[in-house]
Amino acid sequence: MLVRELLERVKFSIRGRRQARVLLFSLVVILLFSAWGCGRGNPGEKTTASRLLMDTHVDLTLYGVDKKTSQQITKEVFAEMMRLENILSRTEAGSDLNSVNRAAGSDWVEVGPELYLVLGKALEFAELAEGAFDPTVAPLLELWGFGTEHPKRPSEDELQAVLPLIDYRLVRLDRDRSAVFLPQEGMKLDLGAIAKGFIIDQGLEKIRKLSSGAVLINAGGDIRLSGKKPSGEKWSVGIEDPLTKDRNSGEPCLAVLHLEGELGVATSGDYQRYFKEGGELYHHILDPESGMPAGGLRSVTIVAKDALTADALSTAVFVLGKERGLSLLEQLPGIEGVLVDEEGEVIYSSGLEGKIELMR
Ligand code: ADP
Ligand code: MG
Repeated sequence: MLVRELLERVKFSIRGRRQARVLLFSLVVILLFSAWGCGRGNPGEKTTASRLLMDTHVDLTLYGVDKKTSQQITKEVFAEMMRLENILSRTEAGSDLNSVNRAAGSDWVEVGPELYLVLGKALEFAELAEGAFDPTVAPLLELWGFGTEHPKRPSEDELQAVLPLIDYRLVRLDRDRSAVFLPQEGMKLDLGAIAKGFIIDQGLEKIRKLSSGAVLINAGGDIRLSGKKPSGEKWSVGIEDPLTKDRNSGEPCLAVLHLEGELGVATSGDYQRYFKEGGELYHHILDPESGMPAGGLRSVTIVAKDALTADALSTAVFVLGKERGLSLLEQLPGIEGVLVDEEGEVIYSSGLEGKIELMR
């Protein structure tokens, strides 16, 4: 039912090709879930709801709650997610993040606890990934025009002019005042690689005040899993093939993860948001060192204890590339990853042995 509804939306989407791509991606994730058993169970033991948020489709599946409770939870959770999106969005005119960006080079800005927390985490991941992950990447994103109708490849001179502004080490935080300062004019923060994870984690927090049943939140492939399904089945998460041209072709996925416990799973891929120019494909995950889309990998899926960590690290490992990315993962306890390289080869961290099923 959900699948048919999504198909209709894809067909009649009036928000353009990018929207259709996002919806198609959500559709593929949902197809994978149904194909590989995620969320299967007796009718009545789970309820599902869906909402367009954070530029993607957010699907919420609740186990073991009655319809009325589920409606109440759904309403509250989506409202909370929307509230957080409005705080953490770079493009939302009145957001905390936007205020910090507008005051770059001139003023400290006092911000709410949510932005302070997420920015602090983003800076920690930037440190961990030695700058491959960098929340000050926004001027580059704007130069490329990602998120606009007319993205374009910038010239080398344009890139060189903007690169000095991309440096997470310049961001100043004042814990006592919960304030943030960007010391150079033109600096801008973007939390697109971490906010979605944080927001779905917060969605789960909200649910936990009202239900102790199993929960699956899927925001266009960024996933939060919690609790045990009444059937006792593990969660199955399909990893799609980034090389498959036609994403709606029903092609089998590359691998399936069989997971249990409290988990966040997130994927960064070059096929999620991109444009083509002169026969070249340019995607939205940028290497802060060169200013160019990061090369080497087609997708990275991270499994961690929470979605914020999975989200941030999927982007970080994507930029770090195969060797450095895998070596970082092997150093981090409780965090695993599946990398797909340009040849379509699947490489995974050692902790996934026994939990990953390769499909070809
Ligand atoms: P998605 O948004 O498709 O889930 P990601 O989690 O990988 O994918 O986030 C990509 C987004 O992160 C980009 O759209 C942009 O907003 C931001 N971004 C791009 N490159 C970087 C980077 N090197 N470090 C931090 N954020 C980045
Ligand atoms: Mg990410």
